[in-house]
Amino acid sequence: MFVVMRSGASEAEVNGVKGLILAEGLTPFENAGTSRTVIAVVGELGKRRQQLKQRLEATPGVAQVTPISKPYKLVSREFHPEDTVIRVLDTSIGDGSLTVMAGPCSVESRDQLMETVDFVAAHGATIIRGGAFKPRSSPYSFQGLGVEGLRYLAEARERSGMPVITEVMDPSQVDIVAEYSDILQIGTRNMQNFSLLLACGRASRPVMLKRGFGATIEEWLMAAEYIASAGNPQVILCERGIRTFETTTRNTLDLTAVPLVHHLTHLPVIVDPSHATGKRWLVKPLAIGGIAVGADGIMVEVHPRPDEALSDAEQQLDFDMFASMMKAVTAVHEHVKDMHGDLHQASGTPTGVGA
Ligand code: PEP
Ligand code: MN
Repeated sequence: MFVVMRSGASEAEVNGVKGLILAEGLTPFENAGTSRTVIAVVGELGKRRQQLKQRLEATPGVAQVTPISKPYKLVSREFHPEDTVIRVLDTSIGDGSLTVMAGPCSVESRDQLMETVDFVAAHGATIIRGGAFKPRSSPYSFQGLGVEGLRYLAEARERSGMPVITEVMDPSQVDIVAEYSDILQIGTRNMQNFSLLLACGRASRPVMLKRGFGATIEEWLMAAEYIASAGNPQVILCERGIRTFETTTRNTLDLTAVPLVHHLTHLPVIVDPSHATGKRWLVKPLAIGGIAVGADGIMVEVHPRPDEALSDAEQQLDFDMFASMMKAVTAVHEHVKDMHGDLHQASGTPTGVGA
């Protein structure tokens, strides 16, 4: 449940509510974004629910105590009706602008990364992607350059002024990845690696959480809740395809998830058509589709010579394909950007705190 304070409630009254929640062994989380202070009560309430609700209602400064119907609380729109906007360096994600995360699947060499970054920067990318620690299905495949790759990514950030997103595979890597990059990426295979979620929740960098290829939307949002509940509200969701009976494509891109998740949560949503399809010629149409259904941006893999790539060769765009895709998605984004509000809250105003 969450507590809505009266407008103009004093700091002492807010602290009184938080103190009561803490004394119950529960955790208060404040949403500072709304005109009135809202405090979520997080933890296992059990049988105390009704009695605690009444005590909170009787606490000075409290206007109303409202249940949160979903199992995820902090990431729900009920608790936090306004969109979360994540700012990194000079770019924002979730503010209605078009976010384009582009770069190679893996950082393979300094030259390969710089060549790619120079091209995508000149053609509308806003964030550099590139894997340094790679989760590969085979232990014999290229595993990434590790810290050397992180150093090249940091150099590419200096060179281009764009922030860097890169994957962190293990809690022990969080500090080093956070040192060299701006956004931590949790890959599909790790979506329910709870110790990794908590470690990223304690980090001071935004986190992009890819949907597990076998995860329901609720499981995905509960994974996001782990990060938020550990203290990091800066979470970006990424739909990257799920595994279905279809084998022609690498995965099946669940575009329905985009407006649905915008409806259920306040977090930005990115679509990754590269891993969703596994085929480079399908990336542009599905990037268009992702933006058309209201995604805040896309993540795409780009390589100067895709056929020579050390990972995901079939799905990486070459430079011409990236430029052509950018033209198309920019046009679609221009077309749908005024519908941003509609696309984010597909079936009307979500329940929660009113004006
Ligand atoms: C990636 O983006 O580098 C990646 C490995 O993607 P996913 O976790 O979606 O497979
Ligand atoms: Mn890849």
